[in-house]
Amino acid sequence: MTALLEVHNLSRDFGGVRAVNQVHFEVKSGEILALIGPNGAGKSTVLNMVSGVIPPSEGEIRFAGQAMASVAGHQYAEMGITRTFQNLQTFDDMTVLENVMVGMHAKTKSSLFLCGMQLTRAREEERLMREQAHRWLANVGLESLATWTAGSLPYGKLRLMEIARAMVAEPRLLLLDEPAAGLNHTETAEMSSMLQSIRTNGTAILLVEHDMDMIMNIADRIVVLDQGAKIAEGTPREIQENPAVIAAYLGTGEE
Ligand code: ADP
Ligand code: MG
Repeated sequence: MTALLEVHNLSRDFGGVRAVNQVHFEVKSGEILALIGPNGAGKSTVLNMVSGVIPPSEGEIRFAGQAMASVAGHQYAEMGITRTFQNLQTFDDMTVLENVMVGMHAKTKSSLFLCGMQLTRAREEERLMREQAHRWLANVGLESLATWTAGSLPYGKLRLMEIARAMVAEPRLLLLDEPAAGLNHTETAEMSSMLQSIRTNGTAILLVEHDMDMIMNIADRIVVLDQGAKIAEGTPREIQENPAVIAAYLGTGEE
């Protein structure tokens, strides 16, 4: 079986600086692949390329067998790839429900054509969108806050709201850039079980994260980047025992 996501010899230059260097990995259907490494290793840049935010300088990304080079950014959600960002991207004056519904617009066909024959269909779509958004708010435990403005929510809840927004489009691949950043221990545990249930329901996850407890708990496989290059790949146990990874990133625990 071919992988859901294939990344071949992916590189990205900024000016003269190579931020990502000949990286290759695959994400299979229904797995959580973690991408880890020190600050500046190139993790967010990889996610930005895989989500179509920036083009690669070299290399190829294939999703469900299709080369992504010719796919426009706004088509990604419809194709089955959605993401969250390292820094929250929320609309503070909009309600939590509206923030989540933003994630669906890429998927709806008639939202741009609110006229004539299509009005009925647009209304029906709007209703289905609301239902779907409420369902995801319930899944992440935010249903009771649906009418609050996003600006009034604590940080940990906003991180969950972003997951709901990325999931309403029913992606096959969810890309997450440090979803547990800024979360306390309890919130991180909540986030972990949320991601596990998303995986159980069939969505693959490419996860960039610094919280090693979380990674070791939920990742099926781990790819390690250092200075733009892949230095290791393996199961959580293999990565924990890998000397190159310990030297570059994990440390010995004896400071
Ligand atoms: P990570 O997410 O692993 O911390 P990044 O992918 O954000 O790392 O950054 C990798 C390298 O690329 C860093 O040296 C960073 O400064 C550089 N970089 C990232 N984005 C840009 C950009 N838009 N312009 C210039 N340099 C960038
Ligand atoms: Mg980053």
